[in-house]
Amino acid sequence: MPAPWKLSPSDLTFLWDECPRCFYLKVVHNINRPWGAFPKIFNRIDKLMKSFFAGKSASLISSSLPEGVVRFGEKWVTSELIQFPELNTACFIRGKFDIVLEFVDQTYGVVDFKTSEARPEHIPFYSRQLHAYAYALENPKPGDFGLNPISRLGLLCVEPIAMDRILQDTIAYIGNATWLECPKDTMGFLRFLQKVVAVLENPEPPDPNPECSWCQYRFDARDHGM
Ligand code: SF4
Repeated sequence: MPAPWKLSPSDLTFLWDECPRCFYLKVVHNINRPWGAFPKIFNRIDKLMKSFFAGKSASLISSSLPEGVVRFGEKWVTSELIQFPELNTACFIRGKFDIVLEFVDQTYGVVDFKTSEARPEHIPFYSRQLHAYAYALENPKPGDFGLNPISRLGLLCVEPIAMDRILQDTIAYIGNATWLECPKDTMGFLRFLQKVVAVLENPEPPDPNPECSWCQYRFDARDHGM
């Protein structure tokens, strides 16, 4: 059997949705699409959120969550091998989650931070990423970090809406913080992964996304013998 495919939780969301061909090229041939401009400020905000919530009560994230605390932050997780009887290759998940909550009933919750407006369509879109972390935590590679069971999954979306001057030289951004709970459906996630692995097993990548200007640039360059 060929080496198992390494799948990143965020690629299962963004890259797969944008273009399965680019996803295929990255996983199968290690060809990475060039990074677009990503303002550093989002990384900074992400780090601030993680450090603000570290060790805090789960109720600070949402009053709808059970009693608990933010127990883990930014940890790499690797799943055991995932195999499907109908397919010839296996895969595994490797990625770094934002935070994990520990509830008093000894179950856990996976939370991802988003600096954005909270929209209902975020729930199905980011569900794969959250499920990928949850699956890797519940089914870790032998000897790797794991937690079981994961009972809650969700997004904390913070959308800046106002500013306030706190001190002479300090201004605070004020944001709406909205909790979006994502229903757990491990079987549905595994059915999705099976579809992904079936695409990766094909000898040829899927067609390019016709909306994408990167591939158009490559095709035009080839047409001109460049
Ligand atoms: S169309 Fe081409 S460059 Fe664009 S995302 Fe797909 S494979 Fe990547």
